[in-house]
Amino acid sequence: MALLQKRLDARLESLGLQGCERLGEERCSIPMGLGLPIHGQALVPFGAAAAMVHPASGYSIAHVLRKAEPVAAALTEPLSAGDAELAVAAANAALWPRSDRTAWELYAFGLETLIRMHSEEIGKFFDAFFRLPEDAWGGFLEGTLGPRELGVVMARLFRSLPASVQWHLFRTGVSAGAAPLARTVLQPGTT
Ligand SMILES: Cc1cc2nc3c(=O)[nH]c(=O)nc-3n(C[C@H](O)[C@H](O)[C@H](O)COP(=O)(O)OP(=O)(O)OC[C@H]3O[C@@H](n4cnc5c(N)ncnc54)[C@H](O)[C@@H]3O)c2cc1C
Repeated sequence: MALLQKRLDARLESLGLQGCERLGEERCSIPMGLGLPIHGQALVPFGAAAAMVHPASGYSIAHVLRKAEPVAAALTEPLSAGDAELAVAAANAALWPRSDRTAWELYAFGLETLIRMHSEEIGKFFDAFFRLPEDAWGGFLEGTLGPRELGVVMARLFRSLPASVQWHLFRTGVSAGAAPLARTVLQPGTT
């Protein structure tokens, strides 16, 4: 918090806002990297507490809105037939199809790797990320790419990084568990 306060003060100063009255202070935490909800629960976990926050951007609103309709549609028929158990299973299947679970695991793998980097490497990483074509980095941040497409973007990014960052990613990637990436590349039908 002390570091964030220092950065906020520097930013306010650079904007010429240092002398303004502060009405309040808000401390927020965005739950990222929570892990996927457990399979087979007797409820439909939905929202930020249910791992629906985009693991790379921290945003959730667009993803939640995109999911609202398919989840509601999946619930309608079994609920009208009075089958709550089937309704929950159908809603969870609509919420977390296998391709989404794999994509989220891939993001989590990327996040695990990224948070172990030093700030200098992170700077180089993001320089290369935003030099990718817009549909690649845009799709990555929107969370709309299938796991295979995501794997392709990640591999493309890896190839475009300086050797020092590649080496870091390789080392931390191995210790963060490269299994999801391998699974995505090897598993058919997850595009
Ligand atoms: C500063 C900031 C900026 C952000 N900007 C963006 C943005 O630009 N775009 C974007 O997409 N996302 C953004 N986010 C993230 C996004 O706001 C959150 O992910 C989103 O609000 C989560 O909504 P939610 O309804 O799932 O969860 P919440 O907003 O956390 O709502 C959960 C609610 O449940 C209540 N609750 C918790 N436990 C219980 C309980 N046991 N019983 C009863 N009630 C309970 C809580 O009080 C809360 O009201 C931002 C977040 C922050 C902090």
